[in-house]
Amino acid sequence: MSRDVILSLTDVVKHFPVRSSSLRRSRDVVHAVDGISLEVRQGETLGLVGETGCGKSTLARCATRLVDLTSGRVLFQGRDISRMNARQLRPLRREMQMIFQDPYGSLNPKRRVGSIIGDPFAIHGLVSGAERKRRVQELMELVGLNPEHYNRFPAEFSGGQRQRVGVARALALRPKLVVCDEPVSALDVSIQAQVLNLLSDLQQQLGLTYVFISHDLSVVRHVSDRVALMYLGKIVEISPSEQMYARPRHPYAVALLSAVPRPDPRSGRERIILTGDVPSPVNPPSGCRFHPRCPKAQQRCVDEEPALIARDGDDLLHATACHFPVALAEELVHARPAIAEEERVIESELVSAEVLSELRDTADGETR
Ligand code: SF4
Repeated sequence: MSRDVILSLTDVVKHFPVRSSSLRRSRDVVHAVDGISLEVRQGETLGLVGETGCGKSTLARCATRLVDLTSGRVLFQGRDISRMNARQLRPLRREMQMIFQDPYGSLNPKRRVGSIIGDPFAIHGLVSGAERKRRVQELMELVGLNPEHYNRFPAEFSGGQRQRVGVARALALRPKLVVCDEPVSALDVSIQAQVLNLLSDLQQQLGLTYVFISHDLSVVRHVSDRVALMYLGKIVEISPSEQMYARPRHPYAVALLSAVPRPDPRSGRERIILTGDVPSPVNPPSGCRFHPRCPKAQQRCVDEEPALIARDGDDLLHATACHFPVALAEELVHARPAIAEEERVIESELVSAEVLSELRDTADGETR
């Protein structure tokens, strides 16, 4: 592991058992994260992007050990944290923090923001009294809040200001790694830019490393040095940000990017409409998990899982999990799969709302 790597994941797997509503125990498991390896370097922002339910938030929770791993290894600053218990993890919690999506739900409405921001000091038994108040007010200033609003309640702040409270709380202990889980998706567009700029300024100022999770490719583009695209528990493409947007190679990446609005609508790009829904993570498709929806699918895609590697002509940092990656001048919009219809997704395999809610409940229940 090179010295500037702050976080390293090797073959990380997280499966959640599906609880049955009947007395019979279900043997099914949700394959939320299935064999992911990646590294995050000191001072960079890695964007983790994909549709709802693809496993990106679960992956972040595995990386920060907010949940136990089913298997695999996580190194944080060179230390293996994969099997550490809560007591062993406690000192490391100061170095790894999370900013959550919902600036409304993540703050207790009955507590004053000064006390909320000061929580990490109290939990770790650090500064107290007047010194804690001084440190909290410094943090409020750092994130652009008025320190005189120390005694206000969350309801007295706007959505953007509440997210700033969440940012201040996450930065209280001067972490090295901050996982931002959809930090702007609950905010108005005009406020999103302010919070993104704040995160970027703080990164420069404090030398932070971010893992930035979003379902929105255009948001990730503006903040990330590298982007990893997830589909059904796997990373399907990872590359420096500019390469992902200029020359996506995975058919899923090409399709998602074709839907991102462009400043010039006459630029001639046609939108690629994917058929079908995301299959069930309880019983993911064989071979390439994207094959039931892929316009380029062939028999090999059904039989053999593609490795996540640099493909012909690509930079070594640009890896794609696809047997037949999209070429530069290729028009994916005209491509048609070369596999029989019965190989493609069938209705009963689609993920049910029940399974998704089960996955959420289990993940919440396991969170440390
Ligand atoms: Fe499509 Fe096959 Fe590539 Fe999967 S491996 S993305 S099915 S072409």
